[in-house]
Amino acid sequence: MKDVIVIGSGPGGMTAAMYAARASLSVAIIEQGIPGGQMNNTEIVENYPGYVSILGSELGQKMFDNVKAEKVENIYGIVTGIEDKGDVKVVKTTDNEYEARTVIIATGCLHRTLNVPGEESYSGRGVSYCAVCDGSFFRNKDVVVIGGGDSAVEEGIYLAGLASHVTIVHRRDQLRAIPTLQKRAFDNEKISFVWNAQTERIEGDDTKVTNVVYRDKETGEEKSIQTDGVFIYVGLAPNTEPFANLGITDERGWIETKDDMSTAVPGIYAIGDVRQKQLRQITTAVGDGAIAGQSVFKYLQLQ
Ligand code: FAD
Repeated sequence: MKDVIVIGSGPGGMTAAMYAARASLSVAIIEQGIPGGQMNNTEIVENYPGYVSILGSELGQKMFDNVKAEKVENIYGIVTGIEDKGDVKVVKTTDNEYEARTVIIATGCLHRTLNVPGEESYSGRGVSYCAVCDGSFFRNKDVVVIGGGDSAVEEGIYLAGLASHVTIVHRRDQLRAIPTLQKRAFDNEKISFVWNAQTERIEGDDTKVTNVVYRDKETGEEKSIQTDGVFIYVGLAPNTEPFANLGITDERGWIETKDDMSTAVPGIYAIGDVRQKQLRQITTAVGDGAIAGQSVFKYLQLQ
């Protein structure tokens, strides 16, 4: 029986484990892949304080060094659910069960992809899913944003502050974003729109993106937009399926937490990208992790 089981070994989970272990709690992390989480898919990180520029995988490895230094137990496993037995939580994986007095969920989220040719091969070479992370690479350049929801429009407005021009490409004839965001985008002279456009592929010159090719759904014609970067915002999906029965998620699957990262179930905490929040970044996941590590310590003291 551990004091804490952390599910997920991204920046949030690793920080939570480190803080909890430093408070003398017994801690295990269960991870289905290699430590680092989404940082392993990030080529270069330029907005983590302390490093002007660092490979995402290297930052992940450095955080894992902290986890190892605190003697946290690292368990490989795909978590399928948590059984809440009050003072004891049973964390179930595909091939085992583990008991803990508290659990911190740090399973992150997935950026939905378009699944078109060129998207994967130019990822990190012009294709991005994060304007806050990569926008500054496109200062005074032309970028395309694909999507029409709140994230696409919000990030399009953010990019317009950096890029010379932003083209929002949407597959419908109107945006889904909330009206105030729509108005700000329509009023921004650096943003233009392409409607009824089904993205077909992303082209490049083998080193970087050069074009987005789409099909005009009204005429059936194939058209191309020259661009330096493509930001894809076709949805985020929280990794919360294993926790759906706990009653801690909102209608879209994000976990709702209080300021101390506690959820509606006593002893179960959630941190990082998996929770309902404004900004999903390494820094914010790390901040959540520190708070949760401290919160479980206080919670266990009162038990
Ligand atoms: P994650 O990093 O998503 O880690 C979650 C972990 O949980 C994963 O390792 C996963 O394998 C594991 N897991 C999930 N489900 C299970 C399960 N059922 N059982 C066991 N393990 C499970 N942020 C920045 O600040 N700067 C950047 O430059 C930047 N660039 C980015 C570039 C890309 C392409 C992407 C996708 C994201 C980028 N981000 C960047 C965002 C940043 O990576 C995330 O905000 C951050 O990693 C979230 O940390 P987390 O700990 O919440 O979750």
